[in-house]
Amino acid sequence: MENFFDNTEIAFKLKSDSELERAYFLFKMIAHQPLVRIGTAVTNFAIKAHLPVEGLIRATVFDHFCGGVSELDCMKTVDLVYSAGVCSVLDYSVEGNETDQEFDAVVARTLKILDLVKEKTAIPFAVFKPTAVGRFDLYVKVGEGTSLTKEEQLEWDRVCLRYETICKKAYELDVALLIDAEESYMQDAADELVESMMKKYNREKAIVFNTLQLYRWDRMDYLKGLHQRAKEDGFVVGMKLVRGAYMEKENDRAEEMGYPTPICESKKATDDNYNIAIRYMLDHLGELELFLGSHNEESTVMALNLMEEKNLEINDSRIWFGQLYGMSDHISYNLADRGYNVAKYLPFGPVRDVMPYLIRRAEENTSVAGQTTRELSLLSQERKRRKL
Ligand SMILES: Cc1cc2nc3c(=O)[nH]c(=O)nc-3n(C[C@H](O)[C@H](O)[C@H](O)COP(=O)(O)OP(=O)(O)OC[C@H]3O[C@@H](n4cnc5c(N)ncnc54)[C@H](O)[C@@H]3O)c2cc1C
Repeated sequence: MENFFDNTEIAFKLKSDSELERAYFLFKMIAHQPLVRIGTAVTNFAIKAHLPVEGLIRATVFDHFCGGVSELDCMKTVDLVYSAGVCSVLDYSVEGNETDQEFDAVVARTLKILDLVKEKTAIPFAVFKPTAVGRFDLYVKVGEGTSLTKEEQLEWDRVCLRYETICKKAYELDVALLIDAEESYMQDAADELVESMMKKYNREKAIVFNTLQLYRWDRMDYLKGLHQRAKEDGFVVGMKLVRGAYMEKENDRAEEMGYPTPICESKKATDDNYNIAIRYMLDHLGELELFLGSHNEESTVMALNLMEEKNLEINDSRIWFGQLYGMSDHISYNLADRGYNVAKYLPFGPVRDVMPYLIRRAEENTSVAGQTTRELSLLSQERKRRKL
């Protein structure tokens, strides 16, 4: 299959000239590692010191990577990208919640988004992050099997109930729900909980999707084990495949605490692991349903080739491709143009609360192994084509 991702006219057709220029400028800045490091430190300080930097953040990184501060704000973007065949996943990207009140507010928000998913074809999934509905340290403790105090047990029961409330509603509305993955040391508890939801609600098809981070070398074994349990129990596994966004944190913690890092030994090992997972999932399609969250062209092309080899429909409802809003438009729009199922994660939330998300994006794009060079060359190709 030819590489059709080079078509920048399709990739950037929704961007005005000035938006294209802003994107080019932004990626040029992000490509500069020292600039990102300094920018991150200054922004963090300014936010903590309540300096009036929100306007600046909004006009630059925020508007490029986010849909707005609320669901309503996002609707304009949702409709616009859908006009080019690309769907959206509204992602409330506030992190670091600690209180029951904050967790319950996320549940209420996710339930509302599930209604939107039911209503709008342009929004095919809802999504939430485990730590948006439960305390990070509690996940760690549950995952380690440490005995909980009476209070902690009650607190964990409330976390379980939040999953149940959201997943039950998704099931009743017959709409799909993605659950993100985070740091490995809190993930075991989340995995167990998500599996129990799949067992309950994925009896005929995937309603609940967990996330597999293939930068972890233990994840293929996990996937195979889960698949086996699903066959025995008669449920469908829904899985979002990603490489993973917390690599440095994972490596640093492992080194500090003196245990082997859960991360693959090289980028190549992560790539191989990711591609093996794609193949495994497509080989067992039906028992497994797949959301491929990646900006990597090679993995995407590999998936397309496998779909062709297996004579699968281009828009098979069990296979979705996803990119983050503001990144890899050349993949999203060219895939949608050919008729594949594509969705952009569209983050939203108050500017200061989505900063951790924005910083991760800046760091990810700065890393040598990232895609910034590719983004820049495509943007500059399109600037030339438009004679800007
Ligand atoms: C729709 C969508 C949903 C997402 N949901 C989640 C989620 O729930 N949880 C999550 O953690 N992330 C999530 N992500 C983020 C995702 O993990 C990053 O975007 C991804 O890591 C970037 O990888 P890539 O597949 O685009 O490919 P590339 O840009 O080719 O790969 C970069 C990635 O490779 C890995 N890598 C780089 N260097 C090394 C090395 N030396 N050794 C080992 N591995 C290395 C890292 O994971 C790095 O991020 C999501 C992304 C998308 C598009």
